[in-house]
Amino acid sequence: MPIVAFGLGSNLGDKAENLRQAVIQIEGRIGRVTAHSALYASLPWGYSSENTYINACVAVETHLPVEECLRITQEIEIGLGRLTKSRDGYQDRTIDIDILCYDRLIVETNELVVPHPLLHERLFVLEPLAEILPEWVHPVLGRTTVELLKTLTEPA
Ligand code: AMP
Repeated sequence: MPIVAFGLGSNLGDKAENLRQAVIQIEGRIGRVTAHSALYASLPWGYSSENTYINACVAVETHLPVEECLRITQEIEIGLGRLTKSRDGYQDRTIDIDILCYDRLIVETNELVVPHPLLHERLFVLEPLAEILPEWVHPVLGRTTVELLKTLTEPA
């Protein structure tokens, strides 16, 4: 069965509880969680806010196609109180769920880009992802999450 990895983030309300609820719903609607990273604290990325983030990643075994995973995670975001999307720049949010990868599938449509285009540039994504899927090889960059993390943390 395919493995899909989600990046989760929250910087409003009870952040750890928001992540926990998201994972419960992902498990109920998308598939069995096979790995859950630790929780990581991070600063807002791409905009400024005094509300820091908690981030985590989960790997999930699913029989659903990736487009269906996106539709469901968007419903979960709305259900958990996410009011706006990021079209006009980033902003505080109770929950953000990104699809980071889906096996080694490559998707590039208007609605969905997989692997997530900023996956290899964000420490708060790559660190938890490397924790749960260290051997996953990025299908475009041809490098494992651990190698990508090294590149990010030890620039040449
Ligand atoms: P967000 O960061 O949650 O505000 O997402 C904004 C939009 O990004 C969504 O409406 C999705 O259609 C689009 N999107 C593109 N690629 C992805 C991805 N890999 N995971 C989640 N959303 C994505």
